[in-house]
Amino acid sequence: MNIQIPGDVNLIIKTLEGAGYEAYAVGGCVRDSILGRIPGDWDITTSALPEQVKELFKVTIDTGIAHGTVTVVLNHENYEVTTYRIDGEYLDGRHPENVEFTASLYEDLRRRDFTINAMAYHPEKGLIDEFDGIKDLEDHVIRAVGEPSERFEEDALRMLRAVRFAAQLDFDIEEKTAEAIKEKAGNLKKVSAERIAKELTLLICAKCPGRIREAVNLGITAVVLPELDLCLATPQNNPHHAYNVGEHCIKVMEAVPQGDPHKDPLRIASLLHDFGKPLVKTTDENGKDHFKGHADAGEELAKKILRRLKFDNKTIATVAKLVKYHDVFMDATLLDLTPCYLRHVINKVGKEEMKSLLVLINADIMGQSDFFRKEKLVRLEKIKSLYEDIMEKGEPVELKDLVVTGKDVMEAGVAPGKDVGEALNRLLNAVLDDPSVNTKEKLLGILRK
Ligand code: ATP
Ligand code: MG
Repeated sequence: MNIQIPGDVNLIIKTLEGAGYEAYAVGGCVRDSILGRIPGDWDITTSALPEQVKELFKVTIDTGIAHGTVTVVLNHENYEVTTYRIDGEYLDGRHPENVEFTASLYEDLRRRDFTINAMAYHPEKGLIDEFDGIKDLEDHVIRAVGEPSERFEEDALRMLRAVRFAAQLDFDIEEKTAEAIKEKAGNLKKVSAERIAKELTLLICAKCPGRIREAVNLGITAVVLPELDLCLATPQNNPHHAYNVGEHCIKVMEAVPQGDPHKDPLRIASLLHDFGKPLVKTTDENGKDHFKGHADAGEELAKKILRRLKFDNKTIATVAKLVKYHDVFMDATLLDLTPCYLRHVINKVGKEEMKSLLVLINADIMGQSDFFRKEKLVRLEKIKSLYEDIMEKGEPVELKDLVVTGKDVMEAGVAPGKDVGEALNRLLNAVLDDPSVNTKEKLLGILRK
């Protein structure tokens, strides 16, 4: 097995060895290199203690000295160099009471979560694969190192990580590992929201986000995202739909192209977009289900869920907006779709978010039944071309696009204070109706009316 190691990683390994220590590339970078994926980062494991690592390199950062991790900075790249360690006893189901440094690479590999993540690589010695990680990579299997239920008892987050890796790699979770997850999933409630949010985001943004169904079947979402389980138990008897609410949400998420997990909340919004439905469901005398107000209910619920999971405010705001407006065009017929109508929508949604919204709407249609699908897609094309036209022409759609400012408005006689905001909004509305009035003269004229 030959892996191409970046020059700087090689240099770090050689430097550590030159000083009498052992060092290997380890974990995700080894796994990804073997799979032909580009590793996100290169981690190094070493017998050197953190202080000894720091002595050997010019620029280092104390990332987690207590856990043995020093970041070595070389050519503006960061490399995490971690001392071989044994995790002490786990009493709380999420982190070890203490960590102990060891001189044994085997011990360090043994504490790692899955066999495919427990391989080390050395440019001359080659691959160190104590737990048959290669075989599991070849068989496309996620298998815990050692006794799965013990490993999940130690750190419950590993159960969600199992599904995350299954979704990223399109691998299956090995039977005993899956059984142990079923048994221990409840322990996930001990894990911090931040750690859960990180793994959940990676899962949702993965190549195969539909593997979240396994998180449902194994009892993971019942703990970390019970709203999804509720949606899966909510049928929608309506010609537009072929699936229950939860299955529809998952299908829509799958139909959204893979985005950057950090920049792109679109996948998250697509999963959550109909979560408001169970809250507002009504059934008419013909047995048909209706979900009036689900987008507003969904907006509130999305905020609640993402706050609970301690997502950052920007992600929460963007997701909430996409959920709120995912049905904004439902009431408009083809005839109503005028540039004026679109400018008002863009104003509410935001220029950039509008691009994401159009992707979400397309995915939403693809996740529905084929009832009127062709017509829905034709309408979406019309909306897209109107949007592009407005953007190309640079038509004003936001307050900051107005040619007058608060200062101008006050000079025209509006009293300072909230009147200024009201006046500007009135002018913005006029400009959204008719962009040609966006001149100082015309706007001040409107103001005097
Ligand atoms: P990615 O490419 O997504 O970063 P990764 O495998 O590098 O994947 P990390 O979360 O960066 O995943 O962790 C690095 C390595 O540390 C893993 O490959 C694994 O060996 C080990 N590891 C990480 N988290 C745990 C955990 N909770 N329990 C046991 N080992 C873990
Ligand atoms: Mg990593």
